[in-house]
Amino acid sequence: MTEDCIFCKIASGAVPSNLIYESTSVVAFEDLNPQAPVHVLIIPREHLATLNDLTDAHTTLIGELVMAAQQIAADKGLAQMGYRLVWNCLEAAGQSVFHIHLHLLGGRRMQWPPG
Ligand code: 5GP
Ligand code: ZN
Repeated sequence: MTEDCIFCKIASGAVPSNLIYESTSVVAFEDLNPQAPVHVLIIPREHLATLNDLTDAHTTLIGELVMAAQQIAADKGLAQMGYRLVWNCLEAAGQSVFHIHLHLLGGRRMQWPPG
């Protein structure tokens, strides 16, 4: 837990959120400013600022995040229609919260390439 990190506070329950899923290592909640009918953020409980901080020790954790996203997408009825998973790494890619998070977006047609 990093004291000044909003996502650490959400993971610990210190800051409320619309929680969708939680396990010992992963938490998922609705994005405050949704960009699609379904917009869920899936995060590790462990504070990792950016994808650049991942090591081989995090391989299982990253798999858990993706599998949680797959499960949530299925629960939201997106498995057939499809959905998008996004990681933003650093400002140039659009990262604004420095605790890694996997965006699950769905429920509308997506454009490619992203802006
Ligand atoms: P990024 O731009 O870092 O890839 O994504 C950060 C996301 O976190 C944004 O989509 C933003 O709407 C969301 N967000 C920022 N602060 C909060 C918050 O306090 N609660 C929730 N639920 N989402 C947040
Ligand atoms: Zn954090």
